[in-house]
Amino acid sequence: MWDSVGLFTVKSCYSLLLQYSNTVVLESNVLDAIQKLWKNDVPSKVNIFGWRLLLEKLPTRAALHHRGILNNPHDISCIFCYMQMEDCSHLFFNCSFVKGVWETIYIDG
Ligand SMILES: [Zn+2]
Repeated sequence: MWDSVGLFTVKSCYSLLLQYSNTVVLESNVLDAIQKLWKNDVPSKVNIFGWRLLLEKLPTRAALHHRGILNNPHDISCIFCYMQMEDCSHLFFNCSFVKGVWETIYIDG
């Protein structure tokens, strides 16, 4: 993880992760999105959030259940609609309640 002069840099870490990504099976569209995400001029916290979203590493209810933090299966339902399991794809792309919120923001904004 060290660069050519023996120092840790974000670039050296990124290069290591890119090498590692070749051994991890990621869908090509997810890998493309991750690569584009790192080459944008957005704040690093936005980059990291997007990265965690694409890799399903956000602390959703499903992830917390998978880690043994939420033990009751009834607790993994989406907090907004209670219709589906709350994972990243549901919470950000498929939840009807959240879609309504985004539409309201888009129309009013
Ligand atoms: Zn929902």
